[in-house]
Amino acid sequence: MYFEQTSNIKKHALNLGFFACGVAKSEVLSDDKIHYENYLQRGDHGEMNYLTNYFDKRFNPALVLENTKSVIVVLWDYSMYDPKKTPEGKLAKYACGEDYHIVIKSKLLQLENEIHKLFPQANMRSFVDASPVLEKTWAIKAGVGFRGRNTLLINPTIGSYCNIGVILTDQELAYDTPLEITCGTCSRCLESCPTGALALPYQLNARNCISYYNAEKKRAATFDLHGWAQGCDECQMCCPWNMGTRYEVAGYEVSSKHTPHLEPRNPAPNN
Ligand code: SF4
Ligand code: SF4
Repeated sequence: MYFEQTSNIKKHALNLGFFACGVAKSEVLSDDKIHYENYLQRGDHGEMNYLTNYFDKRFNPALVLENTKSVIVVLWDYSMYDPKKTPEGKLAKYACGEDYHIVIKSKLLQLENEIHKLFPQANMRSFVDASPVLEKTWAIKAGVGFRGRNTLLINPTIGSYCNIGVILTDQELAYDTPLEITCGTCSRCLESCPTGALALPYQLNARNCISYYNAEKKRAATFDLHGWAQGCDECQMCCPWNMGTRYEVAGYEVSSKHTPHLEPRNPAPNN
C-alpha cells in the first residue's frame, strides 16, 4: 500500500543528504521490553537514570504519537569526518563534525514538510537521539542496518559511523524488511574494548565505557581513558565493516587489533 508515496519519501530523504531511508510498520516491541528490563536490572545503564524514564513509551510508538502506523528511519553518514586530536585528547569521529542533533533535526523537519505534501492529513513527530524511541530497533526493522556485537547499528555500506533519525506518523506506508546480515564469527570489538565494557556480545556495560564516561563526566574515572577526551571509537575502529575510515590521518595509533583496512566488508565478516 502507498508504494509510490513511500518511494517519494525515500527519494526526498536522500535528496536531503541522508544516506539511507527505510520504513517499518509500527508495533509493540515486546522482546525489546524484556531485553531493556534485563539491561536496567543489571545496572548496565550506569548513572544514566533518564534511561528509566518514559518506560512504556519506549516499547509502544502509539503512546508517543497517537495512532502511529509507520516508523520512518533515516541514517546520517558521518564516516567522512577525519578524527581529531586536541590538547585534552582524542575525539571520537561523531564529535569531529557539526552537531548531528541540529543537522538531523532540521532535515527531519524538512522531510516532514515533504510528507505533508503527499499526505496533508498526516500527523508526525521527529526524533534524534534524545527520545523515548528505540532508534536502533526501528532501524533494524526498517532494513537500514543490523545490530553489531558492539551493540551499534551497522549499515552494510557505511558501517557503524552513522546517526539515526526517526519520524513517527499515523500514515500507513509500504514497509521494508530486516536485513539478513550478521557479524558472522567476528568478535574483534569484544577483544578491542580496552576497559572490558563489552564483556559479552550485544551487552554494553556503561559503567566501564570510556564513551559513556566522557559524555556524562559525573564522577571521577576509575579506569584509564586511553587518551580519549570525547567519546571512544575503539570498538568501531576495529570493525571490518568500517573500512577506510582514516584514523591514520590524525596520527591515531592503530594497533594490531585495529586492522579495518585489511578485510573485505562484503559479505559479512568472518574471522
Ligand atoms: S566505546 Fe570504547 S570503552 Fe565503550 S565499549 Fe566501545 S571500546 Fe569499549
Ligand atoms: S567488530 Fe566484528 S563482532 Fe564487532 S561489530 Fe564489527 S563485525 Fe561485529
